Amino acid sequence: MKKKMERKKGMARLLELAFIKKGLSISACVLSVISVVTSFSPYIAIYFIIRELITHFTDLNALDAAYMVRLAWIAAGGAGVAILFNWFALLCSHIAAFNIIYKLKLDFMQHIASLPLGFHTATSTGKLRKIIDENIEKLEGFIAHQLPDLAGSVAAPISALVILFVFDWRMGIASFVPIVASYVIQMVAFGSKPAQTFITKYQDSLDDMNTAAVEYVRGVSVVKAFNQTIFSFHKFHETIVTYGSFVKNYTAAFKTHMTLFLTIVHHVYIFLLPVIILLAGGGAPGNAADYGNFVISSLFYIIYSFSLATPFVKMMYVAGNGRQIANGVERMDAIMDLPSLAESANPKTVSEYSVSFEDVTFSYNAETEAVALQGVSFTAKQGEITALVGPSGGGKSTIAHLIPRFYDVSEGAVKIGGVDVRDMETEYLTSLVSFVFQDVFLFKQSIADNILVGDKNATREEVVAAAKAAQCHEFIEKLPKGYDTIIGAENTHLSGGEKQRVVIARAILKNAPVLVFDEATSFSDPENEYKIQLAFEKLMKDKTVIIIAHRLSTVRGANKILVIEKGKIVEEGSHDLLLTEVGRYSRMWERYNAALGWTLAGAKGEKSCINY
Ligand code: ADP
Repeated sequence: MKKKMERKKGMARLLELAFIKKGLSISACVLSVISVVTSFSPYIAIYFIIRELITHFTDLNALDAAYMVRLAWIAAGGAGVAILFNWFALLCSHIAAFNIIYKLKLDFMQHIASLPLGFHTATSTGKLRKIIDENIEKLEGFIAHQLPDLAGSVAAPISALVILFVFDWRMGIASFVPIVASYVIQMVAFGSKPAQTFITKYQDSLDDMNTAAVEYVRGVSVVKAFNQTIFSFHKFHETIVTYGSFVKNYTAAFKTHMTLFLTIVHHVYIFLLPVIILLAGGGAPGNAADYGNFVISSLFYIIYSFSLATPFVKMMYVAGNGRQIANGVERMDAIMDLPSLAESANPKTVSEYSVSFEDVTFSYNAETEAVALQGVSFTAKQGEITALVGPSGGGKSTIAHLIPRFYDVSEGAVKIGGVDVRDMETEYLTSLVSFVFQDVFLFKQSIADNILVGDKNATREEVVAAAKAAQCHEFIEKLPKGYDTIIGAENTHLSGGEKQRVVIARAILKNAPVLVFDEATSFSDPENEYKIQLAFEKLMKDKTVIIIAHRLSTVRGANKILVIEKGKIVEEGSHDLLLTEVGRYSRMWERYNAALGWTLAGAKGEKSCINY
């Protein structure tokens, strides 16, 4: 097996992503460095202006006016150049950022589309939405703003260090010590192991809250119907409380460090002043000329100390936000690392469509889950109905899901027409199998568009023919705009049975040779059941039909019945054959008949569920 590529993590990964657009990102960094370095020039120019003023303060006429004007221009020009270069840096970084997140989002969407369908049934849409809308989106902030800041932040201390020690090394040290101290505070605050795990947990709780929020919105009808409130929807409430307490703890845990850091970095002069006073008191300046220089240097350091804060505060934000953004990227990477559905190098096609399971063993997760199927072998012949029955959790849905490769088997093989489904192109396999789920899903589009999902190239006549076969033409005609009525809009609400028939029309249009049908246990009023039966008969003609059966009528009419229990086929045969044996099926049948006895008293007819 190919060795899995080790991904970079943390800041290294962020930089790797930022430099996907190398030219733009490097330009942004270089321009930012130039901007930061030139931003110090006004301070130096002002220093020389003050020096000139102090040197000639007894006779201002002796001031070198041209020199002063030059310095003023250098100060103004330096500030202007710094702003201009910063603007260009941000321009480059923004273009890079939007291009990169566009690419990442596209890659992510393409990748999740290539994952086995089982991934989508197991992963909440809230989690995926958060990765796309938040985790990837936040990279824009990092690449567009913090990357140039980072480059500037590295240049700032170096140029600051040089400048600090040019005029008076003692005052230089007095200014530099607080900067080093603030650095240390930052390292202690954000670099510690607890801080790292804290951020992971914080992100986890944010994910949980998002997932629960989506679930809450989706289930809002149930919440309302049962008169629930946000407080009784425990899961959502708990995730909000957990998130709230994390945010509080997060703030509380860093409040001392943050306050200290900001106080020190913004008030370097507090450290500087005692040193200046000490030096002045100790007679350091010596003669009058030296005293002049001493005053000038002191003024320079006091003024300059204010400029030190900006790059260091930016650096702090880069460090803090960078960690959060990197954590979000790790979540994206975890999904990007999931293997796509493997495509065969020599894809095969078939001309016959029986479905066979050959000694299939399957586990949803080999490390954490027990096997869901163990040594399952059977053949569902073309033109026949194969019914899966048995207790809940036995493995019926799992068998159905393995046919269109929602998951790949752990051992053995699933074949259609004698060819392993893994040896077929995904698109081809998808065209062979129609899957009708219990949970009917209709898009918020017109009825015609919903049926066209089965075959997007079908004509209106074919759509109508499919709808007629699926017994839905009549009710569709009565809708305000007929086939062009948008589902859910214009006060149109289809009943559960009607929705299911639209889905059957979709499957009829698709006309796939293999049909996997998870029979609905609901919508079983006799009128609807009869219509679904009619629709289904049209759909099943000459197909390989595999039904997760819940109704007696279906089971009885099946050519073959498989009784599935604890991941194994425990009995197999026709209804009549299985009744001749004293086994699970005949016991189920007896219980069913007993139940039917008292159900009949309610005059409901043949409708009970045998799937217990
Ligand atoms: P049935 O359709 O007969 O009710 P299933 O095929 O749904 O049974 O389930 C078989 C077993 O597989 C059960 O133990 C169930 O808990 C487990 N199972 C089903 N779906 C998943 C899943 N997505 N992830 C992990 N385990 C699952």
